[in-house]
Amino acid sequence: MLEYTTLALVLDKEVVNEADARVFFYTEDLGLVIGKAISAFKIKAKLNAHLEPFNLARVRLVCKNQILIIDALCEQRFKGGVAEFQKLATMAKFLKEALLPGQADQGLWAEVMKFFTTGGNEKELVASFGFEPSLAVCAYCGDQPKIFLARDYSFLCKRCFDLTPKEAWLNSYIQF
Ligand SMILES: [Zn+2]
Repeated sequence: MLEYTTLALVLDKEVVNEADARVFFYTEDLGLVIGKAISAFKIKAKLNAHLEPFNLARVRLVCKNQILIIDALCEQRFKGGVAEFQKLATMAKFLKEALLPGQADQGLWAEVMKFFTTGGNEKELVASFGFEPSLAVCAYCGDQPKIFLARDYSFLCKRCFDLTPKEAWLNSYIQF
């Protein structure tokens, strides 16, 4: 049984089995983590407020056959006005899709923190995934791209993006 304490950005929280919660974190030390808060432990209610999306929390995790959230303490809450909220929500959705569990990356972590703290820069965030937007072209037409897709890290221009039927996989992207 391994135990970890790490700084974690809450990307999303889903209710499972009515009383439990599945929480998607981006963590400094472990990359993407999908942890479970279990009501049977009678700690979920206590933890709930600390595990709201866009919270930066110090979390204690125990890994057995799944990852359980044992403790969480919110250190910072990112919110702002409606426009900022929408921007953070779009980015959280992108990160949830684009990141792979267990792959920590200090450069990317720093860029994500910058984005959530100061509004950041979409182009720099795409670049910290290892893809330089200024060197990329639209996967369909070769034009200058404006969209970076979470699913396969491909680029699209705005025109091709608008022309592509909106399936679920097209919902997670960074526009830069
Ligand atoms: Zn195009």
